[in-house]
Formats: sequence, C-alpha cells, structure tokens
Amino acid sequence: MKDISIPPRPGASEAANHFHADLAAQLLAQSLDSLDAQLHESVGTAERLVDHDCINLYAGTNTMNPRAKALLASSIGVRPSLGHPGEKYNKGVHEIEKIEVLALELLKRLFNAPYAEYRVPSGSIANLYAFMATCRPGDTIIAFDDAAAGHPTHHAEGAAGLYGLKVLAMPFDAARMDVDVDGLRRLARDARPKLVIVAGSMCLYPYDVAAVRAIADEVGAWVLYDAAHMGGLIAGGAFQQPLAEGAHLMTGSTYKSFGGPPSGMVLTTEAVLAERLDRIAYPGLTANFDAAKTAALALATMDLLEYGRAYARQMIANAQALAEALAAEGVAVFRPAARDGFTVSQHVALDARPYGGGNRASEHIERANILFTSIGLPLPAVAGDANGIRIGTQEVTRWGLREDALREVARLIARVLVRGEAPERVRADALALRADYQRLHFVRN
Ligand SMILES: *Cc1c(COP(=O)(O)O)cnc(C)c1O
Repeated sequence: MKDISIPPRPGASEAANHFHADLAAQLLAQSLDSLDAQLHESVGTAERLVDHDCINLYAGTNTMNPRAKALLASSIGVRPSLGHPGEKYNKGVHEIEKIEVLALELLKRLFNAPYAEYRVPSGSIANLYAFMATCRPGDTIIAFDDAAAGHPTHHAEGAAGLYGLKVLAMPFDAARMDVDVDGLRRLARDARPKLVIVAGSMCLYPYDVAAVRAIADEVGAWVLYDAAHMGGLIAGGAFQQPLAEGAHLMTGSTYKSFGGPPSGMVLTTEAVLAERLDRIAYPGLTANFDAAKTAALALATMDLLEYGRAYARQMIANAQALAEALAAEGVAVFRPAARDGFTVSQHVALDARPYGGGNRASEHIERANILFTSIGLPLPAVAGDANGIRIGTQEVTRWGLREDALREVARLIARVLVRGEAPERVRADALALRADYQRLHFVRN
C-alpha cells in the first residue's frame, strides 16, 4: 500500500503514538488479502483468550449467552428501523416491531420500572441522555469524584462537561464508602444542583439513596443512580433497589454484571422524564437503532428474569470468598474502616501501593492470564499510577467458578503479587484452572 505518514493522535501519549505508528507501518505494508487474514486471526486469538484461556476478573466486562451472541450477529442489525413500533417510517419491519416491544417490556419488568429506554448505544450515552433530560448547559451537578470511583462521564472531561455542566464533588465518607449525607446537605443548599448522581465504577456497599433523595427534594434536584456495574445485582434483588429507594433515574451498561450486549439503558419512575428521554432517543440522538442488539438484549433480560437471583447471590458469595482468601494469603485487600467486611457486591478492591501501583500490577499479572485493572481508592496517592486495584466476579461466576475455585484464584494472585513468582510460571496453572470451566451458567439454553 502507498506509504503515508501518520500524524500523532493528539490525545494519546508519546508511547502510545510510537506503538500506533510502528504497528500501522507494519500493517499498511501488507496486501489487502494478507490484512484480511490478519484481521480474522486477531479476532480468533482475542476470542480464544477471553473465552478459554484467561481468568477475567476485570469488573467492567462479562460473557454473554451464546444464543444472545448469535442474535447479535443477525443481519437485522444492519437494517434501519426508525420510529416507534406501530408507526415505523421503514417498511418490512413488522417482526422488528415485536422485538422492540418485547425488549422494552422485559426491561421494565426486570427492574420493576414504569418507563425504560433501550435505544441507548452505551452506558456513557445513557448518562448523556439523563443529563439532557434533567439539566441545561451551565447547570450544576454533584457527582462522585475519582477517589470514590466516579466515572469520567460524570466529570468535566466526559459527557457532563461536554454538555456544559459544572460538576462538584460529592462529599464522601470513605470509612463507610457511602455519601457523607451532612456534607451533601450543606453543599446542595449552597450550590443548588439540578442533578445529584449516586454511584460510580466500584460499589463495595450500597449508598444511602433515600437520604440523597430527601436532600434533592429540598433543593429541587433530580437524583440519578448510575448502575453501570450494578445492573445484574439490582435485577437479581441482591443489592439496593435505587428506583424504589428514591432515585428518579437509573442508567446502566448492559454488558457488565447485566451480562448482555454492549449497550446502555435508562429507567425512570417519572413520566415527565420519560417523555423527554423518548425524544432524546428518537429523533434526538439515534436514528437507526441496532435491532440485532435489541434482540440480544431481550434474551439477556430473560436470562436475568430466570436466573438473576441465583446469579447475583453467587457473584457476591464469590467476591466475599475471594476477598477473604486474598487477605489470608497476605494480599492487601481494601476494607472500608467502618465496615465489618470487604464487600457486599461483586467487587473487591485491593490497596495497590505494595505492588507499585494499580496499572503496574495489572500489567504484570496479565502475563499470568489473570486480568484486572486499576481504580482510584480513598488512600494516599501512588506517583505516576493509581493507588488501587478493582476486581469483579461477574464473569467467572458465569463460567461456573464457585467459592472453592475463587480460593484457588486467590492463591494464583498471591503467588504473583505477594511471593514474587514470575507470572509466566503461574500462567500454566491459571490455564489449567480455567480449562475446567468452559460452560456458561445462569443463561437460558
Ligand atoms: C462503565 C461505566 C459507564 C460507561 O458505560 P459504557 O457502556 O462503557 O459506555 C458509565 N458509568 C459508570 C459508573 C461506569 O462504570
């Protein structure tokens, strides 16, 4: 192919730009036939890693019912279907109308919500929808900051800032990993926010949504619960129920603990917000919406309606077993000072300071085919890295690992992090453990 120079991507680091330039030069020197083969090989290799070869403890992921995966690959996904079922602009979409009505009604039933929106490309866009439905540019919102695992979409660099919102940090009680209710009351009376966001990318314990709602009512604010990570547990009745506790809105990703396709959702109890969300979804920010993804979402929702309770209970039991075993092995598991245990969710947090930082530790243990990532924790900073590690049990639970298996996983992690064994040496044992768990649980078949 013709030689072209590659300008750096302005937002990427120098190292990332070198990586990109080297790889691009190597790829673009090849013929299309060779690139076609290379593309398929990359997909196959990546798929083998996640589906067979690694112990994936990354909190923001899951595997999906193979039958939902088949629906996701359906050719209806490339066919436009515009407008509400019953009044479609396109013709020949009557079966797609059925799929959309089914997905919507199942989602409402799953979360016991009067209104739901599934025409939401991702959890990030779900948050943008919620901001557009509740705020005008220039308004003030309150959201969890980085130390409380707040999400970039809540912050200046994300959807909130891009939409022109001013973001204030939620007062946070790190000892309980919950909202500092008195601090929030003072801040809200002073700042008069239009929206208060509860939850972020790591939820070890439930939050006091009822207290947040009482304060919001006093100052005329809406309450949004970001259930990106907690969708599956909330659906399974094993974590707090944000809408019943007072949140006006709940957003979420459908591919984390929910275990569905990579998409988003917004649920609300309020008719006025539902009407705005409907217009934001169409004709506002989506035209064609992927009907294949909607079909996959409908099946994933059925998985949760049928198995959600058992799935959620096992995710939590696995997280608690993992945390206890890691602590017994000498790993620095993070426990909120004013709580009795490490977690009541699928999440486990580690203090990354003994391991040189969360990113460094994650890169190191990746070589043992064990995947997790860094997170910010309310602890002293690590220079040039994150001070925490976040682990989630939602995927390994679907592969059928139970408490005993999680205790084995804890031993593998400790061999790398605590005993300093080379991750390459631990990898064979990680592969052997994973080989025993190749069938999905908690899915309809
Ligand atoms: C992952 C996450 C999101 C974004 O979800 P996507 O579906 O990946 O866009 C939003 N909020 C929180 C708290 C998250 O953790």
